[in-house]
Amino acid sequence: MARVDDVIVIGGGIVGASAAYRLARSGARVTLVDRADTGQATAAGAGIISPGTSYNPPAAFFPLAFRAVAYYDTLLAALAEDGETETETGFETVGLLHVATTEAEATALPVLLRLIEERCASGAPRIGMVQMLSGDEARMLFPALGACLGAIYTSDAARVDGRLLRDAMRRGAARHGARIVAGSAEAIREAGGGVELTVNGETLTAGAAILAGGAWSGALAETLGEGVRLPVFPQRGQILHLRLPGRETARWPIVVGFHSHYLLTFPQDRVVAGATRESDSGFDPRMTAGGVREALDEALRVAPGLADATLQEVRIGLRPASPDGLPLLGRIPGSERLYVATGHGASGLQLGPYSGALVADLALGQSSAPDLGVDVDLTPFAPGRFASQA
Ligand SMILES: Cc1cc2nc3c(=O)[nH]c(=O)nc-3n(C[C@H](O)[C@H](O)[C@H](O)COP(=O)(O)OP(=O)(O)OC[C@H]3O[C@@H](n4cnc5c(N)ncnc54)[C@H](O)[C@@H]3O)c2cc1C
Repeated sequence: MARVDDVIVIGGGIVGASAAYRLARSGARVTLVDRADTGQATAAGAGIISPGTSYNPPAAFFPLAFRAVAYYDTLLAALAEDGETETETGFETVGLLHVATTEAEATALPVLLRLIEERCASGAPRIGMVQMLSGDEARMLFPALGACLGAIYTSDAARVDGRLLRDAMRRGAARHGARIVAGSAEAIREAGGGVELTVNGETLTAGAAILAGGAWSGALAETLGEGVRLPVFPQRGQILHLRLPGRETARWPIVVGFHSHYLLTFPQDRVVAGATRESDSGFDPRMTAGGVREALDEALRVAPGLADATLQEVRIGLRPASPDGLPLLGRIPGSERLYVATGHGASGLQLGPYSGALVADLALGQSSAPDLGVDVDLTPFAPGRFASQA
């Protein structure tokens, strides 16, 4: 007899992998379908986990982000129970430096310090100890820094390796019985009280489906028929992976504060310098001369000690961006059994595991479970909120 799943998850990036893991772990029958497009955002993401030091996101970002980052503890504990250690996700608390490299930035530091302290006092996770440092003190923590006029240090910022976490959740899902299918989900439709779609010429059926197709989610939704509009668009990010042979960089903190650029490190000697934000890139996951120059110029301006590093790799990802900078989470308007979790833009590694879990529960008809919290208002993230702008 043909298999009928409870839920089919379309897209195997961080969001889809989390949804599939949550579903499989709860005992649901689940299939994860992934096309592994070149430009998958998760495969290129930097991995900064520090929502309390985000500067001007829309107000609705914070309640979601604070829950999402707290959910990391639950997720890592679940993965550990399933045999995946933190090393296998690259997750580590390394702290964060917000550096000032110009007089204007230095003048703004005290205001920023107060803002971060207020957020910390109101319970924002992953801030920890907050401290103003001199340039020399900042350089002690991140020795490749150049002239730095001062910095704010927060001790509890973390980083994660998106590829490793994605793969750990996929392995975890498979361990709990999920079927993982490589291919493109096509012709999705609601039928007979459930959902049908085709992959590699085969029809798959389930009680519900979750679209977690990243930047490609809009194209997926268009196949659902007229009136279904998910205005998610690709924003290209080019990010450099450098190596400093002979240096132990793994415990160096994340460095932010220079435009939208940043530095972060991974074991043993890797320094990651990102990233471009190219909102007009379309679906074009190419490395460009201008993109590499922008990322290198910014990295070397702030950290000239990286000049002799080996340029190991340039990763390119298409972030799933939304018009208002907030994700799309919930049931697709006009449908009964189709859900979406996408549009996380530059914050998908922070938010994505939580979003995937949240929408997984919705797809099973469950309202928020205790480990996800019951106090997040999902109205600002309603997938139908752009309908009047069509
Ligand atoms: C350079 C860069 C740096 C970043 N840094 C950070 C950071 O520091 N912190 C942070 O929180 N976030 C960061 N992000 C953002 C984060 O990486 C993304 O928001 C997140 O990975 C999006 O995950 P996703 O699962 O929605 O999409 P993706 O990872 O893009 O995955 C979508 C998947 O769906 C598949 N798919 C699409 N359509 C179909 C179909 N029809 N059938 C089957 N499969 C399909 C695709 O092939 C793909 O594998 C960064 C992104 C980039 C590019």
